[in-house]
Amino acid sequence: MPTLRVYNTLGRELQEFRPLVPGKVGFYGCGPTVYNYAHIGNIRAYVVHDTVCRGLRYLGYEVEHVMNITDVGHLSDDADSGEDKMVKSAQERGKTVYEIAQFYTDAFFRDLDRMNIDRPEIVCKATDHIPEMIALIKRIEERGYTYSAGGNLYFDVTKFPKYGELALLKLDELKAGARIEVDPNKKNPADFALWFTKSKFENQAMIWDSPWGRGYPGWHIECSAMSMKYLGEQFDIHAGGIDHIPIHHTNEIAQTEAATGKKWVNYWMHNEFLVLDKGKMSKSAGGFLTVQSLVDQGFEPLDYRFFLLGAHYRSQLQFSLEGLASAKASRKSLSDRVLALRDKAAEPAPLGSLGAKARGWLEAFSAAVADDFAMPRALAALWGALRDAELPAAEALAVAFDMDRVLGLGLSATVRAEAAAVDPELAAWAEGKIAERAAAKKAKDFARADAIRAELKEKGLVLEDGPGGTTWKRP
Ligand code: AMP
Ligand code: ZN
Repeated sequence: MPTLRVYNTLGRELQEFRPLVPGKVGFYGCGPTVYNYAHIGNIRAYVVHDTVCRGLRYLGYEVEHVMNITDVGHLSDDADSGEDKMVKSAQERGKTVYEIAQFYTDAFFRDLDRMNIDRPEIVCKATDHIPEMIALIKRIEERGYTYSAGGNLYFDVTKFPKYGELALLKLDELKAGARIEVDPNKKNPADFALWFTKSKFENQAMIWDSPWGRGYPGWHIECSAMSMKYLGEQFDIHAGGIDHIPIHHTNEIAQTEAATGKKWVNYWMHNEFLVLDKGKMSKSAGGFLTVQSLVDQGFEPLDYRFFLLGAHYRSQLQFSLEGLASAKASRKSLSDRVLALRDKAAEPAPLGSLGAKARGWLEAFSAAVADDFAMPRALAALWGALRDAELPAAEALAVAFDMDRVLGLGLSATVRAEAAAVDPELAAWAEGKIAERAAAKKAKDFARADAIRAELKEKGLVLEDGPGGTTWKRP
């Protein structure tokens, strides 16, 4: 396999990827804030995480992917100010914050399934990890990085000389250029709360006892506490959207390295934004597009996945319905091509038996994956193989299915759906469920695994466990 190179925001350069433990990767991607549906910009971030983890696996790494669910108070702007989004959403909908969080968490995973995003190995809720957050804050406090003011506990950024390294921020410039500070308790504008006891909001429903009084944690501490719980005090990759560089990830690094006294994450990967022609899309501003709204306009979720793969994750991507329509048309011709191959060759050729031409396309593909996950080039390799008239059909099919392990376009599901005369969307759904069931079995949640089998049965499909994995069929 080719050498993997990753663009590291820390250092702003492409770097050869060297995991802490050879062959293994610890990956943490910031997950959703569940007070509303994920918009298609958020979905871009999760498709990127999925593509990176799939790409790492393709290149032979064993990946532990951890995703958090922010289900505890998270303020409407990253700088500890604004309204509490969860409380606001609950009030508007006449529900409890816990009901809101569960409802949108379920909706989020339905979207991930429809986008053919593999379930992370670990999905962890902030509200299940308050003791871990308190323990971490205690460590930060013991090492002298905190102060109390107005009932809250703050991190003093001037005590951490490397503050702002990730975002190329300079502390003195931060002070000089700060906006009018809304929190008078802070000594420095960039300081941030680790624990709140004095809430600016009435009806703060989620509160816990702590050494600093009854209250709730700051947002940044959850990612530090949960990532370290599951991946250790040092791990390989931390990912999120570029909006997280200057505040959320900057603060995560400061508090974590303050607590441990050592370097925390080796590679920081940030995806660029999806933008609308009208401008930025934001969850709190309302009026945004969701996966469901695309479906309502006649698209399949995988059309959107295909659209996203057409741009490098570090390029800003302009969304338009015309762009999505052309992605839909390309995906259709891709599926048609694969179906035509299947008509010629019932089975894909075994990978070990491929000739030099087919191997050449796979090499081009893995070179693209290893070059900072360059999906447009990876897609070009797939098209190249599918259009290569010299490639025997069984080999072209094998190449396409192998590449689809990273692309996640459900090509084998498309083929199976046609063979079984099943709606492709149902087939894609079934594939998602099979992945979810595999994750449930791995986590020894056999009740969930059985429930998934029942869900498929309800839709007229049965599961078959075999040596090559699990598949579905019509009975
Ligand atoms: P949030 O739920 O607001 O915390 O965002 C979830 C993820 O989506 C984060 O990694 C954000 O950086 C990312 N994100 C937010 N807006 C966009 C966008 N328009 N395009 C791409 N990623 C985004
Ligand atoms: Zn985070």
